Amino acid sequence: DTIGANLDRAVATWPDREALVDVPSGRRWTYAQFGSDVDELARALLGAGVVKGDRVGIWAVNCPEWTLVQYATARIGAIMVNINPAYRTHEVEYVLNQAGISLLFASLSHKSSDYRAMVDEVRGRCRELREVVYIGDPSWRALLERAVAEPEFPELSCDDPINIQYTSGTTGFPKGATLSHHNILNNGYFVGELIAYTEQDRICIPVPFYHCFGMVMGNLAATSHGACMVIPAPSFDPAATLRAVQQERCTSLYGVPTMFIAELNLPDFASYDLSSLRTGIMAGSPCPVEVMKRVVAEMHMAEVSICYGMTETSPVSLQTRRDDDLEHRTGTVGRVLPHIEVKVVDPATGVTQPRGAAGELCTRGYSVMLGYWNEPEKTAEAVDAGRWMHTGDLATMREDGYVEIVGRIKDMIIRGGENIYPREIEEFLYGHPKIADVQVVGVPHERYGEEVLACVIPRDPATPPSLEELRAFCEGRLAHYKIPSRLRILEAFPMTVSGKVRKVELREAYGEG
Ligand code: ATP
Ligand code: MG
Repeated sequence: DTIGANLDRAVATWPDREALVDVPSGRRWTYAQFGSDVDELARALLGAGVVKGDRVGIWAVNCPEWTLVQYATARIGAIMVNINPAYRTHEVEYVLNQAGISLLFASLSHKSSDYRAMVDEVRGRCRELREVVYIGDPSWRALLERAVAEPEFPELSCDDPINIQYTSGTTGFPKGATLSHHNILNNGYFVGELIAYTEQDRICIPVPFYHCFGMVMGNLAATSHGACMVIPAPSFDPAATLRAVQQERCTSLYGVPTMFIAELNLPDFASYDLSSLRTGIMAGSPCPVEVMKRVVAEMHMAEVSICYGMTETSPVSLQTRRDDDLEHRTGTVGRVLPHIEVKVVDPATGVTQPRGAAGELCTRGYSVMLGYWNEPEKTAEAVDAGRWMHTGDLATMREDGYVEIVGRIKDMIIRGGENIYPREIEEFLYGHPKIADVQVVGVPHERYGEEVLACVIPRDPATPPSLEELRAFCEGRLAHYKIPSRLRILEAFPMTVSGKVRKVELREAYGEG
């Protein structure tokens, strides 16, 4: 199916069920109304001269119009380019030019971000940008007035590219993954199947739509099952999220672990009625056991799923199941989705590893992207001739098929022939009383090839731990080659916009001397 055909089916099957609720503005759409607004916007895009294959950018915080743009561009075969709402002028200019965007949808402003002012600043340097439409502005109305009455929708194929999503840029510059209807519609559908969504479900989506978590695991999982998308706020707000769950009687709630922690820590947490929840998705990074216990017990999310994925694979390839126990939900990232294959290989030889042995996780199936936009060399490095996506993550597969993530290959330290996984050392050092946060990276060393550097944010900046103290703490409890031989005291770590630490920057900054 194409995304448009799938939406048509939802409109025909559940015309009167709610499709979308925007809590901040109180606006609501049934499937019939949502389908007709998508159709109107699609006809307006045709009226504005957008043709199949044109790139249409969206640089906006969560709002109903974001989803209308998502489905309207897919309907006419335009390629929607998701732009991170946290981006600033330098980054947005890069994306506008790299993807060759001709029409841009943007928020007017949000908190301290004045999108219109930023667009005005870069516009002259974006060669292909013809038109900018602001959400909640007369330019949106004006666009709709250009809707053609009798549209000729182009012939579409499931394998057409319809979306460019940028990776987080954790290990380098963000790469634009080009995805088809087939890629993301199937992935959203199967993620929803494993959660057993029906038209009775109401999904609270506080994660950004610009990212695959929101637009695929949220929107596409919902509309392919007749469920309702609930927008609690334009950007993450823990209190607004719980208020939306209570008010809209949501059955499902999404978030990265830190979002759930913020919700659980609200002073008035106990006053929210969350009894309507049964499930949800937690993804992006590992979830501490204590947090998972509270999510299950105090948020009623007994069936909550953990997902593992990456932008390049639409995104999800591993997911826990509804009846998994707590240990599987915290110790692993689940098992493979239907119609996807995974294997763990020795990164040097490509030979499949036995169960329990660490190696590079590779995935294959409908979910693997068409390629990086305009970067065939990078595509060839990531996707091999057998169509296996090399994730760059180290993992082990248990006997029962559940997968544990060990860490990223690029972060692995090789010291005198020994492989060292930073996460193990980091978890150990968290236990030191003077350490608030810690990142471990490998830096060049003449004799050993690499040595272990610990970058530490101290609890009290006035009394940071010394290298001798750290080494004494590790002595006898970690193998000698894992014990950090260098220490840097920092105030903060360099982060990506999606909230991950950029170890690559730590290595570059502190690798010398
Ligand atoms: P870049 O590729 O630009 O360096 P990125 O890999 O962080 O950035 P994303 O596609 O947003 O960009 O993230 C995918 C990565 O996130 C995976 O390769 C994996 O390292 C990590 N990840 C995703 N889900 C999980 C999870 N459940 N547990 C642990 N790590 C996860
Ligand atoms: Mg990546």
